[in-house]
Amino acid sequence: MALRKILTEGDEQLLKHSRKVEKFDDRLHTLIDDMRETLENSGGVGLAAPQVGILRRVVVLLDVNKEPEEMVELVNPEVIEQKGSERVVEGCLSVPGVYGYVTRPTWAKIRAQDRFGNWFEREGEGIVAQCFCHETEHLDGHLFTEKVEEYIDPENMQGGDEE
Ligand SMILES: [Zn+2]
Repeated sequence: MALRKILTEGDEQLLKHSRKVEKFDDRLHTLIDDMRETLENSGGVGLAAPQVGILRRVVVLLDVNKEPEEMVELVNPEVIEQKGSERVVEGCLSVPGVYGYVTRPTWAKIRAQDRFGNWFEREGEGIVAQCFCHETEHLDGHLFTEKVEEYIDPENMQGGDEE
């Protein structure tokens, strides 16, 4: 496993559309393993492949609602259902030091494949639902800053996670 460099705002890769994963091979497994290590090392809660310069539809995220927290691997993920709406604080590993309020669902269901190509569904509440949305948007070249309703002065930050 190896740490990958996380690209930051201004890098064109972050604005591109990622392609569907078709081959569930060693190369994909290495990418996912590296992304897991990179996310763990970053202190963030989610990481999408384009953030490490790979334009493939792959996401790793921490399900912080589980005890202990569980790292989830999502290949070709799609948010298929969402409920509720709340104004939450959001940040992004690719936009370091910037936090703002965005509106996100309070609950979401995602459909994705695992690293072997098996389809599954997973539900998430609160920050996990937020993370499902944030990460799948990365796969379409979107950053959370497009959705920020109000930026937060970092001096007054009381938490918030980077995705
Ligand atoms: Zn992000």
